[in-house]
Amino acid sequence: MTGRVFPGDSEEAGSPPATLVLRNAHLATMVPGGDAYGTVRDGALLLQDGRIAWVGPERDLPPAEPDADVLDLHGRWVTPGLVDCHTHLVFGGDRSGEFELRLQGATYEEIARAGGGILSTVRATRAAREDDLLASGRARLELLARRGVTTVEIKSGYGLDVDTELRMLRVARALGGQTGVRVQTTLLGAHALPPEYEGDRAGYVRLVCDEMIPAAVQAGLADAVDAFCEEIAFTPEECGRVFDAATAHGLPVRLHADQRTDQGGAALAARHGARSADHLEHAGEAGVRAMAAAGTIAVLLPGAAHFLRDDTVPPVAAFRTHGVPLAVATDLNPGSSPLLDPVLTLSLACLLFRLTPEEALSGMTRVAAQALGLEAEIGTLEPGKLADLAVWDVDHPAELAYWMGGATCAAVVRGGGVLTVRE
Ligand SMILES: [Zn+2]
Repeated sequence: MTGRVFPGDSEEAGSPPATLVLRNAHLATMVPGGDAYGTVRDGALLLQDGRIAWVGPERDLPPAEPDADVLDLHGRWVTPGLVDCHTHLVFGGDRSGEFELRLQGATYEEIARAGGGILSTVRATRAAREDDLLASGRARLELLARRGVTTVEIKSGYGLDVDTELRMLRVARALGGQTGVRVQTTLLGAHALPPEYEGDRAGYVRLVCDEMIPAAVQAGLADAVDAFCEEIAFTPEECGRVFDAATAHGLPVRLHADQRTDQGGAALAARHGARSADHLEHAGEAGVRAMAAAGTIAVLLPGAAHFLRDDTVPPVAAFRTHGVPLAVATDLNPGSSPLLDPVLTLSLACLLFRLTPEEALSGMTRVAAQALGLEAEIGTLEPGKLADLAVWDVDHPAELAYWMGGATCAAVVRGGGVLTVRE
């Protein structure tokens, strides 16, 4: 493989080649209907104007124009670009001090008294300059991108006031321009009750519904709205009000549901036609059924379970039985999942939640694209879709989940431009 780079993302770069042929590769297209991975052995891809024009066995490759760029992938595997559909990667500070205290035996209350917990991230994020949020967010997003991520969802939720929430969304959008990763933004104003609304929960929910959501819509900064339904966060009734406001403004909704306790979050998400319900460790059978009927996707977040040492497994068998599609994401955040490796996430999904390697990979490609409403554009290697893909130094796609974060990403292509290439 050549070391040439055609990014569109680094300053010196020109535009991607109009036509790029990737040959001598095995393809995990993730298109359902064939074998588990939608495998094409000895395959090739023809990319034109940023989209996949043709995909199939190399022996059937149609002749490309004589000036087309050709990359020989030397028998490597190509997958769709990874889609990390649930992150909180823009935030100020970090919680490594709290982590250390926890491992020295401090209790939750002691950590809270020492100024830890989500409100410490809120303080650090409110105090951070936009440039600092950009720089730290960019460093984290570049790690994901180097490991195959071509699309990421980024939530707000550490501002908890109108200005800071909008600043977080603006930073998230700017990160897309800086790194070349496709960014989808989600307003998560209903993440925690800010200290200034202590004792006035209804007042804060009104702020989210009547000011935050309209402001985000007016600024064109939110692609979706999320809420955290949990004893320590917001009640199903409060989340329902946030969803009604989002729906009235034409925004799709998602929900942090049933992570620590069964709050009926899965059913609530389904009732509101949510794109996804996320976490779901404690979701019950009725919730799973409701999700299946509503077409709500289950986003599983093994990083949080691992970091919090919670051994409760989401009802994966019930999701399979009822046909709820399973997505997998990093949940990258400073408090409960400081997980910067999407490939390690695949491994955790298999080890902790007992997904198969194929389910984990489809969960971070095809199904994750569905959770973002982008299934017509990304998530599989099919003609017509955007040319977002990752090239891996493995002999079989199961290795992505098998090695604990070790599978090497040799190249990432986004919109037809090769972002990184390793010899
Ligand atoms: Zn989350």
